[in-house]
Amino acid sequence: MAKVEITAAYCKGCLLCEALCPKGVLSLGNEVNALGYNIIKADDTKECIACQQCAVICPEGAIEVYK
Ligand code: SF4
Ligand code: SF4
Repeated sequence: MAKVEITAAYCKGCLLCEALCPKGVLSLGNEVNALGYNIIKADDTKECIACQQCAVICPEGAIEVYK
């Protein structure tokens, strides 16, 4: 199991990370940040394999994954 940390203030809700995640861990939440974007949430981190694809693709540097 891994830990997925999302910095809500940076996320722009672009969904690149959701599209890439092979385990369906990420989805757009209802929470809106100060920029007015709905932010990504990590639903089922038990499924996360710490592949880091979400962290690498995020253009805002909003995701960090720890094993
Ligand atoms: S590290 Fe990989 S499996 Fe985990 S949330 Fe990111 S893309 Fe999905
Ligand atoms: S790739 Fe980054 S900015 Fe885009 S939705 Fe995911 S966390 Fe937010």
